[in-house]
Amino acid sequence: MKILRTQTLRGPNYWSIRRDKLIVMRLDLEDLAEKPSNEIPGFYEGLIDVLPSLVEHYCSPGYRGGFFERVRTGTYMGHIIEHIALELQELAGTPVGFGRTRSTSTPGVYNVVFEYVDEQAGRYAGRAAVRLCQSIVDTGTYPKQELAQDLADLRDLCNNASLGPSTETIVKEAQARNIPWLLLSARAMVQLGYGVHQKRIQATLSSFSGILAVELACDKEGTKTILKDGGIPVPRGTVIQYLDELSAAIEEVGGFPIVIKPLDGNHGRGISIDVKTQQEAEEAYDLASAASKTRSVIVERYYKGSDHRILVINGKVAAVAERIPAHVVGDGRSTVEELIEITNQDPNRGDGHANVLTKITIDKTSLNVLEKQGHELTSILAHGEIAYLRATANLSTGGIAVDRTDEIHPENVWIAQRVAKLIGLDIAGIDVVTEDIRKPLREVDGVIVEVNAAPGFRMHVAPSRGLPRNIAAPVIDMLFPPGTPSRVPILAITGTNGKTTTSRLISHICRQTGKVVGFTTTDGVYIDDYLVEKGDNTGPYSASMILKDPTVEIAVLETARGGILRSGLAFNQCDVGVVLNVAADHLGIGDIDTIEQMAKVKSVVAEVVSAEGYAVLNADDPLTASMAEKVKGRVAYFSMSPDNPIIHDHIRRGGMAAIYENGYLSILEGEWTLRIEEAVNIPVTMQGMAPFMIANALAACLATFVQGIDIELIRQGVRTFKPSVAQTPGRMNLFDLGHHHALIDYAHNPAGYEAVGGFVGNWSGEKVGVVGGPGDRRDDDLILLGKLSAQMFDRIIVKEDNDTRGRRRGEVADLILRGISQENASLRPEVILDETEALEKALSTVSEGGLVVIFPESVTQAIDLIEKHRPLTDNQG
Ligand code: ATP
Ligand code: ATP
Ligand code: MG
Ligand code: MG
Repeated sequence: MKILRTQTLRGPNYWSIRRDKLIVMRLDLEDLAEKPSNEIPGFYEGLIDVLPSLVEHYCSPGYRGGFFERVRTGTYMGHIIEHIALELQELAGTPVGFGRTRSTSTPGVYNVVFEYVDEQAGRYAGRAAVRLCQSIVDTGTYPKQELAQDLADLRDLCNNASLGPSTETIVKEAQARNIPWLLLSARAMVQLGYGVHQKRIQATLSSFSGILAVELACDKEGTKTILKDGGIPVPRGTVIQYLDELSAAIEEVGGFPIVIKPLDGNHGRGISIDVKTQQEAEEAYDLASAASKTRSVIVERYYKGSDHRILVINGKVAAVAERIPAHVVGDGRSTVEELIEITNQDPNRGDGHANVLTKITIDKTSLNVLEKQGHELTSILAHGEIAYLRATANLSTGGIAVDRTDEIHPENVWIAQRVAKLIGLDIAGIDVVTEDIRKPLREVDGVIVEVNAAPGFRMHVAPSRGLPRNIAAPVIDMLFPPGTPSRVPILAITGTNGKTTTSRLISHICRQTGKVVGFTTTDGVYIDDYLVEKGDNTGPYSASMILKDPTVEIAVLETARGGILRSGLAFNQCDVGVVLNVAADHLGIGDIDTIEQMAKVKSVVAEVVSAEGYAVLNADDPLTASMAEKVKGRVAYFSMSPDNPIIHDHIRRGGMAAIYENGYLSILEGEWTLRIEEAVNIPVTMQGMAPFMIANALAACLATFVQGIDIELIRQGVRTFKPSVAQTPGRMNLFDLGHHHALIDYAHNPAGYEAVGGFVGNWSGEKVGVVGGPGDRRDDDLILLGKLSAQMFDRIIVKEDNDTRGRRRGEVADLILRGISQENASLRPEVILDETEALEKALSTVSEGGLVVIFPESVTQAIDLIEKHRPLTDNQG
């Protein structure tokens, strides 16, 4: 077996709309192609032995053990690998369920598709599944330690890649509210919402966390001063920079016991608590000084009580937790060391922030803390006796948290909310030392020790005891108050032909509203009039560029086949999904061999239309029209003919449509006909002579109409959009050269040729074609281009692209010639392989009033050449 290619899909795609995180592995079964599992001796038994948990895969039989049944009675290796890739991820702790395996047109080659949670882990699981299967085929088994290693690697990949626990809770809440999110590539920042409506978070800092507030919170002394000035109880203390100031400082705070800590520390580093003697104080001073960047040390009175964290979000207390330092509880038999080991076996305890709790570590600090309590690692604790291993209660050093949200005294709630306001933080973690959070701080001599920016959420979301609290909800409420938008309208356009033209026209109409329009096309990414990035930008990367832009108010996205197949869509829902047509082009690429498969690729755009949105479909193209069945939102059709039966039926049921009637482009809404404009007044239709452009314009009018754009603005848009070289280079650019005309068009498939033919047929003078075709199309497609040319032109010059895309020079021309002679043997086509020469020849020989049509490889070269022939004007441009 050999993996030929592995693709990672990250959005709605050909295989599934809902399961949008998929690995597609193109697999050559080689010698196993002809061997179903039942013909491989020992395979079934070997697989059961290696992965017994596969019994839970129901597979097509639909009952427990169903998949094993399939293996026993005979199924192909691709299908087995799909199940194993899923199971390996499941065993590594990332549950996944979706899988598909399909043959391709190459015998023995399959596409194995399976879901992932983490990309890297998904790809790894695919490779491991192939390895595992091959080993069972070759040796009857797969070594246990290999499997254990695979699972360990998978777990590592998932842990390293996943969002931090706090970020993840916020993202999950956003998802639950249908707010889109994107991971930005810098600083683990997450974007919530699209375009102008976006907000950002980084861990638990938000777009609303002001730099002044965050810096103040990081400055403990500054924080204390501000709070003290506000009358908030804070520890009595002072800051020193030299050891000889220590004694005076201790006296100033009222003598022992004291706390000594670095001015600029965190995570409890360099802190000594409950310091009782001068000698201890000096040691603590050194520790703190070393941990401080500025060598500044805080000396504070020690306050009795336990550590509490009050989380204030957007001015309101959202949760309260009591934090208890890492400790073990005696059982009358075990040593402290043994008790630590037992405690660490809790599956909730992981390394670092990977899990709800963190493992307790034995180090110098813990030994010191033990010693202070009169214990060592070998001490045996009495039943119920507690030994602490840390003085501070951070979760990251093995502490636990107990929810106290329902117990806090109202006066303390009021104080905490005031503290957050005084510091100015939108999300504040307030550390309080008090003996009883149920009593007002003042009564029990409790103090606010610190205010944290970017507080961790772990202790509230997953406390060791007490109720878990959904604290992501108030964060999202703050970023997106109920009723405010998080998305910008997305209008996505797909089809075989006309995408760029229609996308540009839609953008132009949208711009009449005065809003900022971001759009992507084959020519580049644009925001309003400005080119952001040149090049073929019809994939998810370019779409995200628009959705990430903080100025964009409407997104218009040309969405081509290539991107959908390569990685899926960049968005999981759109407001308007336009499908223009499905014609034979690009077949045989990416395992899309039939036009029906191509229709399935393009229908992804229609299927992601949201429930309130519209799919705009071509009623004249059966493959496109039938996509309506899978649309979750509403459907609107466009048609060149008022008599189209689909339109009739749709209108009768109260649907919406756009049609071409009596020379007008009109919207039908129930019984009403809204005339937008006469085709002759819409420049893009070339005085109404280019039928396919009328179709594109109908799609554009309908798309913007269902999006709620005022019909007067639509009118204004279609009247002012010109098919000039500047606005739509290579799309129906007609040049008046005085003696004759020339037309440049980028048609490159049969449907495109036919479309242009619709215009050429309306021309009364001599019609000369300069034709060729891209070398990567199938023979039959090129022959067809020849036939279509013969129908269209009085005279033909056959040329070739410079880039033959893998074919022998002259081969494409021969195929086109074959098509021409099949269609019309009396035509005497000329062959001039060089495009420039061919065009020169046509321009110099065409008769007066005639039309030269060129389908160029390079649009700019053709334009330059024609410009040299002294154009008077560029038709309407
Ligand atoms: P973290 O990053 O965990 O917030 P830190 O390094 O910022 O820690 P502080 O928050 O100042 O340090 O102190 C850590 C803990 O030490 C406090 O939560 C509290 O339990 C204890 N503590 C600090 N100062 C005092 C004090 N004056 N009296 C009693 N306990 C104190
Ligand atoms: P690409 O796949 O290259 O991005 P596209 O779908 O964006 O193409 P356009 O660039 O708008 O299409 O148009 C390319 C050519 O396709 C046009 O010059 C014209 O010849 C032809 N074409 C445009 N619209 C249609 C249509 N509705 N039906 C058939 N052919 C069309
Ligand atoms: Mg603290
Ligand atoms: Mg295009």
